[in-house]
Amino acid sequence: MKKLFKCTICGYVHEGVEAPEVCPKCNLGKEKFVELSSEDAEKIYASDRTNSIHAEMIILADKIAKLAKEGIEINLDPKCVNGFEKAKNEAWVIKQRCKAELAGHIANGKW
Ligand SMILES: [Zn+2]
Repeated sequence: MKKLFKCTICGYVHEGVEAPEVCPKCNLGKEKFVELSSEDAEKIYASDRTNSIHAEMIILADKIAKLAKEGIEINLDPKCVNGFEKAKNEAWVIKQRCKAELAGHIANGKW
């Protein structure tokens, strides 16, 4: 059965039957890894997908902001520009909210 092992030096999380011989991130040895409790492993698995969703939403929000900026520059009419300005601001809020949530996940070891 696969388990999770965390490097106590850099925080890298390895999935496997046992800890890796060498940490892929900091290159230190197997002895630096500790096996995570099933409770901690569950938190990591449970947040894995939501972390990916937040990351994808950040990319999409960036695309919305860029499109809105282009729309503002075209400057068709005040109503149109206003809609793009709102979208640009809303994209910023979505992006920052996702970043804050990801930061919370990382701080809580749910990564
Ligand atoms: Zn490491």
